[in-house]
Amino acid sequence: MPKVVSRSAVSSSTDAQPTASSTAALRVYYCLCGEFILVIDKGLASSPRRQTDGATVVQCQDSNVGKARVFKLNATLKDAILVERQGGHEKQYRFHCPRCDLQIGYQSTPPPMKSGPYVYIVKGALSQIQGQVPPDAFADENLVRS
Ligand SMILES: [Zn+2]
Repeated sequence: MPKVVSRSAVSSSTDAQPTASSTAALRVYYCLCGEFILVIDKGLASSPRRQTDGATVVQCQDSNVGKARVFKLNATLKDAILVERQGGHEKQYRFHCPRCDLQIGYQSTPPPMKSGPYVYIVKGALSQIQGQVPPDAFADENLVRS
């Protein structure tokens, strides 16, 4: 009798495919240029924010803090850069939009994407409506309105 290998057993991908029951609640986010960037099982607005830079924290792995989010990022992962933080430096592997190269987010661990416990989405980088600038995109800028 041939050995039967179950489909779920051979899958080692961390990009969990959404199940039929969760598909209805999926949120889709776009870059400011209109490129599709992120599909996720829970809205970013209800996710925690980092105190240091206001980036949205997306959990990639189950922990005692909570369950991992199911999401897929359409972005290019670039080489690490060092960011100055209070009391030291922070290593960031940045995600960029594959079309316009705008920075979308980052993680603190080397590739592949989602290799660490969290992925961070830069504040104001994504919009839920294609082609529309999110309301907090310029929140930290002192824009002079004429
Ligand atoms: Zn873009």
